[in-house]
This record gives sequence, structure tokens and C-alpha cells, in this order.
Amino acid sequence: MSSALYDAAMYRVIIKDGKDKAPKRHHPWIFSGAIENIEPSFSTADWAEVYSSTGLFIAYGWYDEKSHIILRLISWKKKDNPGEELVRKLVREAVIRRKDFFSMPDTTAFRLIHGDADFLPGIAADAYGKEIRMLVSSRFADYFLPAIAKELDFLLHPAIIEAVTDKQFAGLEGLSERIRHFRAGEETKEDESRDNVRFIERGIWYEAAPGKGQKSGFYCDQRDNRMITEEYAEGKTVLDLFSYTGGFTLHALRGGAVSVDAVDSSESALRHLLYQIHLNEEKKAIPEGSREKVTITAADAFEFIRASEDGKYNMMILDPPKLAKTKNALDNAIKAYKDLNRVAMMKIQNGGIIATYSCSGAMSREDFRMMLAWAAHDAGCEIEILRTLSAGEDHPIRLSFPESEYLKGYILRVLK
Ligand code: SAH
Repeated sequence: MSSALYDAAMYRVIIKDGKDKAPKRHHPWIFSGAIENIEPSFSTADWAEVYSSTGLFIAYGWYDEKSHIILRLISWKKKDNPGEELVRKLVREAVIRRKDFFSMPDTTAFRLIHGDADFLPGIAADAYGKEIRMLVSSRFADYFLPAIAKELDFLLHPAIIEAVTDKQFAGLEGLSERIRHFRAGEETKEDESRDNVRFIERGIWYEAAPGKGQKSGFYCDQRDNRMITEEYAEGKTVLDLFSYTGGFTLHALRGGAVSVDAVDSSESALRHLLYQIHLNEEKKAIPEGSREKVTITAADAFEFIRASEDGKYNMMILDPPKLAKTKNALDNAIKAYKDLNRVAMMKIQNGGIIATYSCSGAMSREDFRMMLAWAAHDAGCEIEILRTLSAGEDHPIRLSFPESEYLKGYILRVLK
């Protein structure tokens, strides 16, 4: 679509009186119930100019009837010119804001684009060494993927860009689950025989296989929290629940843990965890003999912890997947988080350390803290909050978009 076409076809959306507070405060999501009128009546997805019922300009957004968020606001600047160029400008600005990450000596994996927090709804892009992995969770991102890839290629010249549809959102957004590749800014067909990409995070080595793994292959949002884990690990008997490929396990080992039990439901993630222990021993990034300290168990983490021996551990890491996908799923998710944390508090030694996380955007920090208070009450213990944690600054929290504070965590000391 040319920008001339946008000018001709840009839709004009009027927000209902009383429903315009959030968008005026720069919250990016508008659902159909908030829309008073739309002109011309919609057939295809396109840019929209959004006004209050009194005729005040609010923002430019992307309207798509097939998306579970029908109107996604993108720019509150009237002077912006909606179109592919705007999308590329937003990509450029997001990358430039992260310029300090490119000169970090011990880290080559970090987030370049963090969805709505970078004004690019439904697109996450991570640098992993010389590759870029993207996760697509909106129709907007799917539509503009070639433009986003072009701009990233122009700025950073990655060896390859791989874009995977986020399984959690494919159904909600009506997207087909697929993997797309871009080289030199152009879409290409790739077989899956490419080598793993190798990268470092705070001096620890990792590999991610092409087209495999969860999310974009690695969770770089926990980078700072893995370093904090290391500070507490000396001499500890550690349980790493929901370990995935062992980010926390590797840091606990470097921090001097006596032993680490890593538990995940994914056997392939655990196999990869063992491989990464060998890789790091070889690179001398973790102490020799680390492999002997680690036990892996493929199991349901909730069942594992319930069946675990009382008082075996004095450090636990609880990093479950997103248990609340949407606000509607929140109540059930809170019960699951509470159950997990309560059992951990009951099982851990007196004075033990729990690093507990929630990566559900639908759950606020207040909900998370309240849930922990209930868990502590039911477990009959007192809790000290030693540290309050969130994602690294490459995953910015946009004040006008509270859901962007999706990763919340605490280092707790349990007093019995
Ligand atoms: N701590 C990891 C990331 C965890 S992501 C890191 O630092 O990289 C959440 C993990 O939970 C995934 O690896 C997923 O396979 C696992 N998982 C999901 N449901 C589970 C369950 N019921 N029991 C055990 N593991 C589960």
C-alpha cells in the first residue's frame, strides 16, 4: 500500500464519550465496545485516525476487525504520517534507545523491540549474537513483518532474521503458525539445517536452535535476575523449578551452589540444559565439576514440589510460564501461583531464599504481592522481601501501559 492510498483510505474512528480516558492517557488498546463510529465502514485492516466524541484528535492506530484488540493505538503525535515509513521509524528509534547494549563486553543477547512498550504492537525482536529472532503475536506485526525486517537489516546487518508466530496468540489473532526468514532484508526460504546460534549473557554461554525452542528461543528478560540469583547461591542446595534451558541453574553454579535440581516439563529443554553446562565448563565460565552437581527431572513442577522432601532445599527459583494469558483467566491463575508459592514456602528450610516470578501481564504487581501474602498466611510463615525485581531495561515498562510491567519478581527470605 502506498502512503497516498493511506491518505485516501485512512479511517476515522470516534471513541464513545466516557471511553476516551485510557486512550487519551496513551493506553494502546481499544476494544469494539469503546467505538462510537467508524467511517467509512470497515472491510480491510488499515490505519485509522482516532478522535474523541468532541472531535479532539487522540491518536493514530491500526484497525483490524480480525484482531482480538480491534484498534491498536500507535502514535499520539498528529504530525506523524501513518504508513510503512512510520513503522520503520519506530523500529529505528527502539534500536537506538538500546545503543548501550551493543557495547556490553559480556552480553550479546538482548531485546531490540518490546511490543507496545516500543509502540510496535505484537512484535518482539531479540538479538542473539549475529542473528535476530522475532516473535509475532498480532496481525499488525504479521502484516508489517517485511518492513520491520528491512529496517532491522538496514540498521544491524544480522546474518539472518527468523520470525516465529507466538503459539499463545495465533488462535486469538487468527494467524497461521509459521516461521519466516529474512536475509539482507528480503524474505527467503530456509531449511532447518542451520547451525545453532551461540551467544553470551553476562559471561555465560548459550545456544539456541533455529526454529525451535520457546518464545524466540531464550528468555533474555531474566538477565539481571539471573545475576542476582548468583549473589545468593553460595553454598546453597537449589531447586530450579521451570528451569527451561537452565539460565538460573548456570548462574547458581557460577555463584557456588552445592547442588541444583532442575525441573521442567520439557525433556528437550532439559537435555539442552545439560549441553549448556558442558559448554560453560569447557569455556571455563562455571566451576569444573558443575555437571556432577546437577540433577534434571522432566516432570510437572507443581507435582514435583509437592512430592519433594521437606527442608531439602534452602534456595528455590520459581519461574512458571505465563499462567494468566488474559484478564479473564486471572482468578484461576492467581490460585495456581498461590498454590505454587505456598508449597514452596512450606517445603523450604527456615531462612531459605525463594526467587519467585510472574510473567503474566494481566496480573499486576499488587495482585502478585497480595497472592504472596495469602500464600505466606496459609503456609504459616513470615516473609521478608529482600529484593524487588523486574525485567531488564531492554524490556521497558511504559508508564501509560501497565501491562508492559509483565515480569515481576521478588527475592524472599522465609522465616519459620
Ligand atoms: N527459568 C527459565 C524460563 C522458564 S519459562 C529461564 O531462565 O530460561 C517456563 C518453563 O516452564 C518452560 O520451560 C516450560 O517448558 C515449563 N513448564 C510449563 N508448564 C510446566 C509445568 N506444569 N511443569 C514444569 N514445567 C513447566
